[in-house]
Amino acid sequence: MALIDVPSETLLVEMGKDGLNILETTMQMSSNDENAPVICDLCSKPLGKMKDVKHIESPETITIAVRNGFKPEEMLKATKDMLKGMGEKNPDDLMEIVFESWKSIVDKSETPWALCDDCYKSIQLYIKKRGSCSAKE
Ligand SMILES: [Zn+2]
Repeated sequence: MALIDVPSETLLVEMGKDGLNILETTMQMSSNDENAPVICDLCSKPLGKMKDVKHIESPETITIAVRNGFKPEEMLKATKDMLKGMGEKNPDDLMEIVFESWKSIVDKSETPWALCDDCYKSIQLYIKKRGSCSAKE
């Protein structure tokens, strides 16, 4: 058993409507059994073992991506398929609720997220978006 430390001590600040917001940061270490299978936290794709995971993002990063408009399409699609499989006739009606509750999970999340290549790339796109509208005086 080995400990894998994922420090997240970056302080995140952003200019909001009401002034400077300091997004809460938590210093924490996560430890995992390195032989435990890991799945992508966004699309549930198997990533192999903990030590093989290439992309680990802090929950703050995910929160920023979501604020910038990121939607976990794969997760939503899988949920929709699941609802259809359960006999739900109008799964689209529920997707907004599913997305909202997912967002609240992101807000509360304090553990690093393991991501597959695809999800990592899509998250990065949304993180780079920020800054384009931040320099207003
Ligand atoms: Zn993924």
